[in-house]
Amino acid sequence: MRALITILMLCAGAASAEPDCAGSPTPEQSELVAFDPSSDFDAHPGVPTADETAKLEAGISLRPQLRPCKFKMFELGRERMRERGAVCKDWTILGETLKPIKGRYRGCGIPSPVRIHMVSGVGLNQFALMDCETAITLKTWIEVVAKPAFADVGGGLIGMRLVGHYSCRTQNNKIRARLSEHARGRAIDISAFILADGSVLSVRDGWETENSNDVLRQLHGGACGLFGTVLGPEADQYHKDHFHFDTARRTSGPVCR
Ligand SMILES: [Zn+2]
Repeated sequence: MRALITILMLCAGAASAEPDCAGSPTPEQSELVAFDPSSDFDAHPGVPTADETAKLEAGISLRPQLRPCKFKMFELGRERMRERGAVCKDWTILGETLKPIKGRYRGCGIPSPVRIHMVSGVGLNQFALMDCETAITLKTWIEVVAKPAFADVGGGLIGMRLVGHYSCRTQNNKIRARLSEHARGRAIDISAFILADGSVLSVRDGWETENSNDVLRQLHGGACGLFGTVLGPEADQYHKDHFHFDTARRTSGPVCR
């Protein structure tokens, strides 16, 4: 008899216990466990259905803690993104968000800069300053063009050497030239690609020895259109050893040389 009373008390406790978000699954699990489109969709918001009315009258919670838990999980996910160093609202772009940068000269600067060091698992050899549009375009190019191009080469792409990012200067450092896209945090210069087996493919050495379909040509050609300007070793004397990519937008379309 005593055992029966104990079981009844435990059951009663379980039925009246408030669902506790603190003990909820992780956000990833929560997406699998908690999300149920049919239960989460209101055909007539604010108007209880007959089934809901019956449940309300019986004192049963309709969606016990589901929405508060999901909201909490969303917040937790955002917090983890920040802890991990994700910027530009993208899990795969790691770095830090900085205060607006003002350059020495008029027109220089970045209103909402980020300083990034890893993009889609590809490490950068130095922190790179740019705006989010450029960081996200770089991520797209890495995922859509660069990683596939290196899929069967050296175990895949793991790093890139940069020789330029934000810099308050004119185009090619020429006096009285127009301001460079680097001066607006909208450009990046890449000189070499580091592969999983430790090998390095540099633009300077690789471009001359490559055939027309080889990796560096794929990287250069695939950037055209994603970026507004794509310059490589055949553009001019200033780009013999690196690719220049920037997110300048022209009504006449991208410039790729
Ligand atoms: Zn450049």
